[in-house]
Amino acid sequence: MARYTGPSCRLCRREGEKLFLKGDRCYSDKCAMNKRATAPGQHGTKRGKLSNYGIQLREKQKVKRYYGLLESQFLKTYENATKMAGMTGENFLRLLEVRFDNVVYRMGLASSRKEARQLVTHGHFTINGKKADIPSMSLSIGDVVAVREKSQTSQKFKDIMEKSATTPSWIESDVEKLEGKIVAMPSREDIDLPIEEHLIIELYSR
Ligand code: SF4
Repeated sequence: MARYTGPSCRLCRREGEKLFLKGDRCYSDKCAMNKRATAPGQHGTKRGKLSNYGIQLREKQKVKRYYGLLESQFLKTYENATKMAGMTGENFLRLLEVRFDNVVYRMGLASSRKEARQLVTHGHFTINGKKADIPSMSLSIGDVVAVREKSQTSQKFKDIMEKSATTPSWIESDVEKLEGKIVAMPSREDIDLPIEEHLIIELYSR
């Protein structure tokens, strides 16, 4: 599946805020936003006053980058949200949250969504006991995500077992077993990212 392979920190600089794309580094002094928060470009592109369209576009780009999606995947998710009952904006964020790679990240089994996606594609997980390696899979209530038995002995997952990650209330996590069960669909309040989803809806409704 296609994905962005350029420098992650450049995306934060483009959006003018931390998107937390590189795990622990984002919380350290090494974060590029602590050193150079200007937009990318040889002399740092100036950020002028944005039009309404510009504001909507930047919000969309920001959310797309949070979840590490390309435009086509992002748009497809939005279109699926428009077909669901209820509020499109909330449905959209919910669909992004219950992606397999995001659930792995939310379970604390990866330090970033990017790492979660890589671990998924490398086949380290099962869903309901069966090997699964497609990051975009949409999970539902009752689904159990677990680290495959043969991956549990790797240093990566041994280290995770020693950490106490906080999981959201919609995932019931068992750190010792390295597994988590989805016990509810995430509510809007559960999604702790600074997102104004109405701007994305306005953009796509143009
Ligand atoms: Fe963004 Fe993390 Fe890079 Fe900082 S370290 S600029 S938060 S990706």
